[in-house]
Amino acid sequence: MFILFGEKIHSESCTVGLLPCGVCGQERPFDKIVETSYFCIFGLRLLPIEKLANYSQCNHCNNAFDTDASDAGSFNTKNDLPTHIVPLKRILSYLQVGYGMQTHRDLAQDICLKVCSFEYSDDEFSRDVLLASQGKSDIYDYLKIAASRLNMRGKQEIIEAAFLITHACCEIQYEDRLRINLMGNALGVSLEFVSSIIDHVHAQGCYGVRRILPTKTQTS
Ligand SMILES: [Zn+2]
Repeated sequence: MFILFGEKIHSESCTVGLLPCGVCGQERPFDKIVETSYFCIFGLRLLPIEKLANYSQCNHCNNAFDTDASDAGSFNTKNDLPTHIVPLKRILSYLQVGYGMQTHRDLAQDICLKVCSFEYSDDEFSRDVLLASQGKSDIYDYLKIAASRLNMRGKQEIIEAAFLITHACCEIQYEDRLRINLMGNALGVSLEFVSSIIDHVHAQGCYGVRRILPTKTQTS
């Protein structure tokens, strides 16, 4: 007998009504999104394997927020910080430390503001630089865990930030681009998606982000 086993991702979205959105500054309609991978036979879902995503989303600004972990099914009543902002800042500081450019604090702050419209404070930057310098956690593991709370917009902005800080700190070589691809992989997006984001950022003139190349050459 021929039996076809496999794994399938099932995405569920349900409306949860009006909630205050910290980005929009007023009540907006929200959805709850849950993605689960299932063990399948002949394409039929049998057993849930893993919850891949679980977040709420403002339908107006399209930002993802945490559901309230203390009460599954209810929601964070503040929704003040989209879930991708903290990982985006961590990636900026991680890469800037990696290129030895962390003294240019204004660069990460400028990219953060241009990509996600959130401030990256001096204190936050110093704390993240310290974390990155200690090198205690694997950045790809960190992104894999963070991915379950992110929607596509959040993932896109994290990749934009990763590309821009790389572009600002070096003439991009194979290993630099590979690092961005690995970050995209940890976030669960395709290489094509990463490429399309980078093409989009290039088409926008890299948002006018200044470069601090070690060789002082300003060609791109
Ligand atoms: Zn909103």
